[in-house]
Amino acid sequence: MTRKVEIFDTTLRDGEQTPGISLNAKEKLEIAKQLEKLSVDVIEAGFPIASNGDFSAVKAIAEEVRGPIIAGLARATSKDIDRAAEALKPAERPRIHTFIASSPIHMKYKLKMTEDEVLEAAVAAVKRAKSYVEDVEFSAEDASRSDIEFLCRLYSEAIKAGATVINIPDTVGYATPREFANLVTTLMERVPEIDKAKVSVHCHDDLGMAVANSLEAVLCGVTQIECAVNGLGERAGNAALEEIVMALNTRKDFYKVEHSINTRQIYRTSKLVSTITGIAIQPNKAVVGANAFAHEAGIHQHGVLAEKSTYEIMTPESIGLATNTLVLGKHSGRHAFAERLKELGYELPQDELDKAFERFKELADKKKEVTDLDIEAIVEDQAVKLPQSIEVECFQVSTGNKAMATASVRVNINGEIVEEAATGSGPIDALYRALERACNIDCKLVDYSIKSVTGGKDALGEVTVKVDKDGKIFLGRGLSTDIIEASVMAYANAMNKTLWNNGNGKSS
Ligand SMILES: [Zn+2]
Repeated sequence: MTRKVEIFDTTLRDGEQTPGISLNAKEKLEIAKQLEKLSVDVIEAGFPIASNGDFSAVKAIAEEVRGPIIAGLARATSKDIDRAAEALKPAERPRIHTFIASSPIHMKYKLKMTEDEVLEAAVAAVKRAKSYVEDVEFSAEDASRSDIEFLCRLYSEAIKAGATVINIPDTVGYATPREFANLVTTLMERVPEIDKAKVSVHCHDDLGMAVANSLEAVLCGVTQIECAVNGLGERAGNAALEEIVMALNTRKDFYKVEHSINTRQIYRTSKLVSTITGIAIQPNKAVVGANAFAHEAGIHQHGVLAEKSTYEIMTPESIGLATNTLVLGKHSGRHAFAERLKELGYELPQDELDKAFERFKELADKKKEVTDLDIEAIVEDQAVKLPQSIEVECFQVSTGNKAMATASVRVNINGEIVEEAATGSGPIDALYRALERACNIDCKLVDYSIKSVTGGKDALGEVTVKVDKDGKIFLGRGLSTDIIEASVMAYANAMNKTLWNNGNGKSS
């Protein structure tokens, strides 16, 4: 029988620690539901003690997501573990993931603890977690820079205390593939209880070796890989889920292991995560980059046309990338639209479908051909919308190279109509100032980006903004064939989120 490697997704925990990312509970739940469709084995939903927002997101995911194991992270302290257990209570298959650093440098400077103290804390943490749940994962943080004797002792005691999974992290992305393989093999040989637990790895990409290190570990016999969609994570990120899975798939002849991932959901998952986090995917990114399946050079095109496998080692279909560019237009009816959505893998409840169809019709009026990419953009845009406390009813802007830009807006804020005007150094600046005044929200624009969803002059423009409100970052998106309108929508969307975070909505 072929060995199975489990995929532990940490997009919502380590991935959320990517600089500049801040997700609310609704956005996290949306990603978790997509991870369920992707069929990951474990979803690490968050770090419950970190904030109330993190706690409620883990709880919401534990309540609503079925299938994958739901894990919550906890340092090796009673407070952390109790909080994680509380958040995971509604889960069908809960796992507490507890960790403590084991390298000399971390123990000395961060923990200020001796080896024996670390060992004692680890054992106590595993036992406490075990009193709440059956499934307990233990990580020795910075394992790759730890003393091997101590590491063996630590994992051995953790398993004896009840750990069902032991995780070997290359926390700072320092190990090389051969070194990391040696470490895993040594632990496999020298921890007597190792066959009683699953063995996992968690690699960071500081030197670009996270995926290579993880795959080496697979060859050494580990049964779980921790990774994140689009390689998100602390600093340079984690091992990229899509790269690991497609390597195992494409080179099954070599790795000879099974996994449970539905690869046809990879593209959609990657896109959703990029949309929600606002972290764009580089075009030359392996597997999911825009160029991953594009053939530019004539000699390659010729080869691919003659026989796909000349230059294509995997097919775009295998990751769920729609290659058929079937277009819908303004004469397409509700049925055709619903069918297309289904083919693209979206199953929407009736009211959501109605809303999406309405937006599709609006778009089809402005744009001759509505492609799959447009439809995906519409559906994803609406999936993560919070109820709108701020609605821009209308705006006007005038600008020119010799005149100062002036803008006016009329905004509906929880039923109250407010009008304001402002000047600025350009149309967007003027509009954003007017909006801030109208909503009476003091925030700072920290990032603005615009891209077109498809090619063509009438393409949908997608604007993503990041605003800073009291030191917290909020992401806003706007989608329109008019880029000024998309810009206004994006800013209003971000400001709306700041209101929700302040208690005018639910938790953040
Ligand atoms: Zn990490």
